[in-house]
Amino acid sequence: MKKQVYILGGGISGLTLAVQFLRRFGNKCSVTVIEGSENIGGIAGSFHVDGLTFDYGSHRIHPATPAHIFSDIKAYLGNDLLERPRNGRIRLLETYIPFPLRPAEMLRNLPYRFTAGFIFDLLKKALGSKQIAPSNFADALRQDLGNTICENFYFPFARKLWGVEPSEIAPVQARRRVAAQGMVALIKKAFCNTNSTKNFFYYPRKGFGQLADALAEECRKLGGVILTSTQIKSINTERGRITGICIGTPSPQSYDTDMVFSTIPVSALVNLLLPPVVPPIRTAVDSLRYRSLVLLYMVLDTDRFTPYDAHYFAQPDVIFSRVSESKNYTDSPCSSKTGICLEIPCFYNDDVWNADSQTLGKQALDDLEKAGMPVACRIEQVFKKSVRYAYPLYERNYGWNMTIINTFLEGITNLICLGRHGLFLHDNIHHDMDMAYTAVSCVQNDCSFDTGRWLGQLPRFKDQVVED
Ligand SMILES: Cc1cc2nc3c(=O)[nH]c(=O)nc-3n(C[C@H](O)[C@H](O)[C@H](O)COP(=O)(O)OP(=O)(O)OC[C@H]3O[C@@H](n4cnc5c(N)ncnc54)[C@H](O)[C@@H]3O)c2cc1C
Repeated sequence: MKKQVYILGGGISGLTLAVQFLRRFGNKCSVTVIEGSENIGGIAGSFHVDGLTFDYGSHRIHPATPAHIFSDIKAYLGNDLLERPRNGRIRLLETYIPFPLRPAEMLRNLPYRFTAGFIFDLLKKALGSKQIAPSNFADALRQDLGNTICENFYFPFARKLWGVEPSEIAPVQARRRVAAQGMVALIKKAFCNTNSTKNFFYYPRKGFGQLADALAEECRKLGGVILTSTQIKSINTERGRITGICIGTPSPQSYDTDMVFSTIPVSALVNLLLPPVVPPIRTAVDSLRYRSLVLLYMVLDTDRFTPYDAHYFAQPDVIFSRVSESKNYTDSPCSSKTGICLEIPCFYNDDVWNADSQTLGKQALDDLEKAGMPVACRIEQVFKKSVRYAYPLYERNYGWNMTIINTFLEGITNLICLGRHGLFLHDNIHHDMDMAYTAVSCVQNDCSFDTGRWLGQLPRFKDQVVED
């Protein structure tokens, strides 16, 4: 009889895992993906409105994708995998500078006081001021990049994106972002990047979600089952093993399982376990926080809103952190309309989360005007989508809480957690795919899981550097 393998979550991590698993063990195992929402793809999905394709915020495939993963992506997408020039901009001190950074334009556009401050910070760093181990994100970043760029860009951006003071964020957050790899890296990026991989990206012709769609198609072709709109009621455990998963409404049914891979948010997973967890695990799970996103979309009656793919906003005077125009990510913008997506960071259930799209739309229009990007055409539609689990929040005590949770979960021998929210990691899709490939490589020929080998790989995932 075939072993029953369940994969929780039908985002990029879950779908990649399903395909890789079926390729190796399809003759020995049945694979079922359980997805709570009606669509597959998770935050890397796409949807269509009025003939336009929209993503869940700006998404691109980064050139940092390892070669073996990239060649598989290429095989899934074929000629639909486009190489596109990057054309973004950052609003800094009431002006816009191009992203990727271009030295001549930076020097020409930025106010004198910023350039002078940045050079002063550079000299101070060159003279070698004493470095001490930073205790938070603010100290880590200030040590690496100096005061000027921190106070004018990174700190306001952090406050907006994560909703807490930079001094309340764990120092590891600074190491996890490419943009924050020290002053030398920043200058190199600004002055030596003529052929940089930062100048281009890859994108599926029919929207970012085309990759998830291709993975889902391949999974089904290999015999995998994908259940969408399927609620998990409980996950039953006995003597350190998952014995069954109870799914479906209104009358849930329990299914026996041999192995479970979970890519759903780790706190949601723990809350589904029976018998329920007790302190200190309960306390650790309740202390984990996520940053959410309200994505406000506008369909505009114009061929193109701006020539840029994305605009980044750190300052608190506008509610959005990023505005993207999906049409500019592809090479086939034939529609006479365009659509924009405004990313508005918030906490689950706060005022922004609960605001209706008309109220947010009004505020967003004022803020676009303030940012020098007035909408001068007819707006055909304004609507919002909400992403509860967008960013894991690395508060200063998160590492301790994750150690407690991971130690507990590692005690469940047939459960493997992976993916962005499964491991509470800031990451890119190539990291998620890497985790899925690695997880399958830890499955042995008799379909048992080599936990020791997997645990040995975890530090690598925790050191991943995120591309913006
Ligand atoms: C705004 C934004 C922009 C980004 N841009 C980029 C980019 O440009 N390039 C890049 O490489 N990466 C980018 N990322 C990161 C990338 O989107 C994620 O790393 C990746 O999509 C995570 O995939 P996942 O499958 O691990 O998680 P998810 O996509 O979160 O998938 C988890 C799935 O589990 C489902 N689920 C949750 N709870 C349950 C439950 N109880 N029962 C059943 N199902 C459940 C969810 O519906 C979801 O489908 C971006 C992320 C964000 C937030």
